[in-house]
Amino acid sequence: MTALRIGFLGLGQMGQPMVRNLLRAGFNVTGFDLNPAVLSNLSQEAGFQAASSVQVAAASCDVLILMLPDSKVIDALLWDQGLAGQLRAGQTVLDMSSSDPVSSRNNATRLAALNIHFVDAPVSGGVKRAVDGSLSIMIGGEAAHVEPVRPVLQAMGKTLVHVGAAGAGHAVKALNNYVSASGLVAVCEALVAAEKFGIDPHLVNQVFNASTGKNNTTEHKVENFMLSEKYNSGFALALMRKDLQTAQSFIERMQTPGDFAQTCLRTWAQAEQGLAPGADHTAMYKHVRGR
Ligand code: NAD
Repeated sequence: MTALRIGFLGLGQMGQPMVRNLLRAGFNVTGFDLNPAVLSNLSQEAGFQAASSVQVAAASCDVLILMLPDSKVIDALLWDQGLAGQLRAGQTVLDMSSSDPVSSRNNATRLAALNIHFVDAPVSGGVKRAVDGSLSIMIGGEAAHVEPVRPVLQAMGKTLVHVGAAGAGHAVKALNNYVSASGLVAVCEALVAAEKFGIDPHLVNQVFNASTGKNNTTEHKVENFMLSEKYNSGFALALMRKDLQTAQSFIERMQTPGDFAQTCLRTWAQAEQGLAPGADHTAMYKHVRGR
């Protein structure tokens, strides 16, 4: 089943559990990360090879998975540092990061000229669902390029939806995070206002979860990461702000009314400035309380 050899760049909060699920499914994975500590976390796993560079990881695979911070890093790697020119015809670049859809579409076109396939397959569900292999994966690319990598994606995710051509997966991902981030801010503002009125925020959230205000934040984040003040969901606030920037500029490019997206982006950018570097995105609650 697992003839495809996987290269994996970016072994952070998401990349590590995703690699473990690929190994569990029987794939051989050669991985690289700039941070040697995360590389050594995986080096004891059967089927995992730690590569000494991006080039080594890319040379030994059929499918090169990217789970990197953003399009700037990816474009620098592929074009400025020349990785694209070192890939072989017929290889697939599978970008599972939350990248910019326009950059991804350009990457697909430029890689196609080198006979390299590009598929975008960003994920949703956070670290928890990366660990249990139940990520939601939205896929962009040509069907002929997507189908061969479907078993690879099935090892990491549960709901796979092929949403369109190259870049479409990244567009849907940014829009999903816009909707999610808007809901998160609304919940924070509501909880803080209720608390100031003397209402226990745990009870408020209990009511939301039994009412029409229920959303992913009320169900999974309020108790675990916000009211507990742990702020350790594993998804950085800076990455959420980046996703909102992507969504807001995408909405603008599509000439769609985006007043709410602009406000949402501004709120997240203010939180990023106000909180410590490296803050988790659930620390938005702390930011709203502190203002
Ligand atoms: P992370 O910061 O934990 O991991 C990124 C890793 O990439 C780091 O280990 C870093 O050292 C490595 N890296 C950076 N530049 C590199 C390079 N040039 N070569 C090799 N390695 C390099 O981030 P994460 O939370 O794992 O997120 C990765 C991507 O997934 C982002 O695009 C993010 O927006 C997206 N995402 C994250 C979550 C989440 O809950 N954390 C959920 C869905 C999507």
